[in-house]
Amino acid sequence: MVSINCQDLGIKNCSYVATAENTGDVVKKIVHHLRQYHDLNMPSASEILWAEDVPKETSRAEKRAVVEEAQTETHKTDEGVQLVVKRLMELLKPFEDFKNPKREK
Ligand SMILES: [Zn+2]
Repeated sequence: MVSINCQDLGIKNCSYVATAENTGDVVKKIVHHLRQYHDLNMPSASEILWAEDVPKETSRAEKRAVVEEAQTETHKTDEGVQLVVKRLMELLKPFEDFKNPKREK
């Protein structure tokens, strides 16, 4: 199970916790919540997880750069959204290893 809570994203006074079986679903849930309840102009879950048109052989760092660039382009003026996305990505880092079949844990 993967879970992310709103407060970890820097949003105060919200007890929402998104929980799902995998990172993809948890990101969808939290993005939906942030849009609905916090009126944040969030990029889509796939934009955050990395755009589907990014070639598979692209490294994680490169994918992240692509996503961050897309995110910056779209939400240049919205610092609040950028901060939330940045924090969300930080929170997802350990789960990337979880997705990796070679995980040690
Ligand atoms: Zn919330």
